[in-house]
Amino acid sequence: MNRISVAQPKMVGNERKYVLDCLDTNWISSNGKYIGAFEQAFAEFCGVKHAVATNNGTTALHLALVGLDLQPGDEVIIPTVTYIATANAVRYCGATPVLVDVCAETMNIDPREIEKKITPKTRGIIAVHLYGHPAGMGTIDEIARKHGLWVVEDAAEAHGAEVQGRKVGGLGTCATFSFFGNKIITTGEGGMITTNDDALAAKLRLFRGQGMDPKRRYWFPVVGYNYRMTNIQAAIGLAQLEGIETALAQRDALAGWYNVALADLQDKIVLPVEASWARQVFWMYNIFLRDGDENRRDAVMQQLDEMDIETRPVFYPMHVLPPYKEDASYPVGDLWAQRGINLPTHQDLTPADVQRIADSLRMALVN
Ligand SMILES: *Cc1c(COP(=O)(O)O)cnc(C)c1O
Repeated sequence: MNRISVAQPKMVGNERKYVLDCLDTNWISSNGKYIGAFEQAFAEFCGVKHAVATNNGTTALHLALVGLDLQPGDEVIIPTVTYIATANAVRYCGATPVLVDVCAETMNIDPREIEKKITPKTRGIIAVHLYGHPAGMGTIDEIARKHGLWVVEDAAEAHGAEVQGRKVGGLGTCATFSFFGNKIITTGEGGMITTNDDALAAKLRLFRGQGMDPKRRYWFPVVGYNYRMTNIQAAIGLAQLEGIETALAQRDALAGWYNVALADLQDKIVLPVEASWARQVFWMYNIFLRDGDENRRDAVMQQLDEMDIETRPVFYPMHVLPPYKEDASYPVGDLWAQRGINLPTHQDLTPADVQRIADSLRMALVN
């Protein structure tokens, strides 16, 4: 039987044609028509005024924080359960990520815990839409306004997710996306920042291109970065974006198949739930082991691996990783991170694959 991977990219239509166009016209670097076209199409998709493409999702986060003038000594509130790039981007600015526990329902930052961590040094909040389920932006936005903070959405895993009918990407001061090979749409490596703020967008463009004055070539008023996306990446991205509604629908269908195939295992595992105010997208379909099996996660994953099914553990919380280690406990994050498994989630999976995964999981859980 073939091996099932946990994630894989899916070319959906015009990728090859657009890339060949870059090669045939010699526009292979970070100038060319696909960059602007991809930025504009992505801004429209998110319902925002501006989209600024970058070379990956981590540089998108760093550039966003540079644009917001984050300084050494400042503090930024982030969830403890996230991908490490969220914390690293804060550290790149010399600032301190301040960790907050997550809520059990969505595994996203718990808005009720945020205010306890606000100090005079706090400048903003990074709300991560983890695994495709959006964070509680309504409450987060209220807290931010009350304390004069900015909000960055880390939407690297959540292209197309919605909060009360509004797409992520336009729900904070700005938002960042990733187009890494395992994300919902991909450019190989790539990222994007979206915002409705004209001045911020101009600043992001300035700092993305080494800080070169747009009106005076080779005049650099600031220390910038080279975080540009190439035309080839944007060509792939534009083609991927043309197929995003299909991609999201296929991922919804996949989640539906899992929900049915795993229904009888619910005394052993918790299945994903969608908050009433949210539209989640399935970057990853996650399950969590219930009480009694809390120490068996790695063994279950090992058995699945032996049955040629690749899975991944839910991210380790930041407070257990060496660069951000704390003795404090974050009970919900610890619980979910210890028990969570990402099941294979990509657009080439069939109902038969899902049945095979469910059957293998059933065997692993009773063993
Ligand atoms: C993937 C990811 C990033 C970083 O994106 P890259 O394109 O891999 O640099 C940042 N934050 C989260 C939550 C991610 O999942």
